[in-house]
Amino acid sequence: ETLAAGWNFDNSYARLPDAFYSKQQLNPVEAPALVVLNGPLAASLGLNEEQLRSEAAIEVFAGNRAPDGAEPLAQAYAGHQFGHLNMLGDGRALLLGEQITPAGERFDIQLKGSGRTPYSRGGDGRAALGPMLREYIISEAMHGLGIPTTRSLAVAATGESIQRGEELPGAVLTRVASSHIRVGTFVYAAGALSGEHLAAMADYTIERHYPQAANAENRYLALLEGVAARQASLIAKWQLVGFIHGVMNTDNMALSGETIDYGPCAFMDVYDPATVFSSIDTQGRYAYGQQPKIGAWNLARFAETLLPLLHDEEQEAVNLAQKAIEGYMDQFHAHLLSGMRAKLGLFGEEAEDEELIGQLQQLMQTHRADYTNTFRSLTIGELEDNALFGSDDFKEWERSWKARLARQPQAEEAWRALMRANNPSVIPRNHRVEEALEAASERGDLEPMQRLLSALANPYAYAPEQEEFADMAACGVGPYRTFC
Ligand code: AMP
Ligand code: MG
Ligand code: MG
Repeated sequence: ETLAAGWNFDNSYARLPDAFYSKQQLNPVEAPALVVLNGPLAASLGLNEEQLRSEAAIEVFAGNRAPDGAEPLAQAYAGHQFGHLNMLGDGRALLLGEQITPAGERFDIQLKGSGRTPYSRGGDGRAALGPMLREYIISEAMHGLGIPTTRSLAVAATGESIQRGEELPGAVLTRVASSHIRVGTFVYAAGALSGEHLAAMADYTIERHYPQAANAENRYLALLEGVAARQASLIAKWQLVGFIHGVMNTDNMALSGETIDYGPCAFMDVYDPATVFSSIDTQGRYAYGQQPKIGAWNLARFAETLLPLLHDEEQEAVNLAQKAIEGYMDQFHAHLLSGMRAKLGLFGEEAEDEELIGQLQQLMQTHRADYTNTFRSLTIGELEDNALFGSDDFKEWERSWKARLARQPQAEEAWRALMRANNPSVIPRNHRVEEALEAASERGDLEPMQRLLSALANPYAYAPEQEEFADMAACGVGPYRTFC
């Protein structure tokens, strides 16, 4: 029996008032089988990879057995789904517990697709293999890109099929997160629980994620400002790599500042702020160009829950909240601008930089240029024969850019290095992800996924063997659509 494998749980969430969760039994599945295991992540958590691959340990990843010290629970939370408030909660997930790593860090270990809970409403509590592998690939790609994110430790097949219009193989994803506290957790507390509950959750979040806020004059304002600062940084990083989350509901915004809940997310190919991939986002609420504003909208929902804690006088509380949200927008713009400067190899600041950046964005949009590959080409200094690079407008822009580069003291070597460090040569291209998922879930062939994952682990490497992953989809492929 190697069930132990290094699991070392401490369950602080389970010590919160019990209105925040429902303790759960496991929902065992027919035939657990390990599909993919994240060795480096396992090691960083203090887990023994070899032992994790034993038959007994694999059962943990399918939700058939709980390691010692686990206290499975489903979390309660609310969420604004496309703007509409609903009571949600973990309808198909279980928090097994919090792994304390050898370095003393605390991570939620959550099973996704682990069966019904009191929050399942009409759902079956299950997940299909394709979407769980999709979350695995994209979350690990985000980690490789240096973007705060939940991570994926394993995917286990259940040996059972689920109904999604057709029969699909079932699977469970083991997700690792700094926590699963969401804006929606506070929305639930403020709307359905007492003021004491709300304060308990706020204090818990401070202790877990913003310990320095505990010493502030107004600790809850410091919490709000801390959350706003991390979201400003996070969403700027999304914008810089062209990541589209796809479903930025308030239950999918983590207060830790990590990207969470990979559903219909995808990376933008052709630069266009209106880009939407999700089949259900018919109004474009969560389009690429909307994400920064939606971040502010979600923060406003968070700030509303905190009003009674921010100040005794309501108007004062509202003023403080509004200032924090304005602070988010200012910080977002500052992060975006400095990130875009780096993508163009610009050290220092000139007043016209914003205009230079805006012009390039406009040109990419006009000439339907691929966002990632445009910056990749500029980085390596090889401009292929395409509509953008062939246009006179671009050549004019290029002269301004080169003149700006020439005005800075840094040598070409330095600005090219800055560009390489900020422009990924590999992203999880939609057709590559689909190809890998199809091979894995329809033919049981994991090789394409493993090759994709290893290319995505070092997206700034500019290694020759990664070149094939930079290719765009063949022409004639229709608009890409993602489904939850
Ligand atoms: P998501 O779109 O993954 O953020 O999920 C939104 C809400 O729907 C959450 O409360 C989920 O737990 C719930 N949910 C999604 N899929 C299922 C399912 N198959 N069974 C039960 N609940 C689900
Ligand atoms: Mg309870
Ligand atoms: Mg969610």
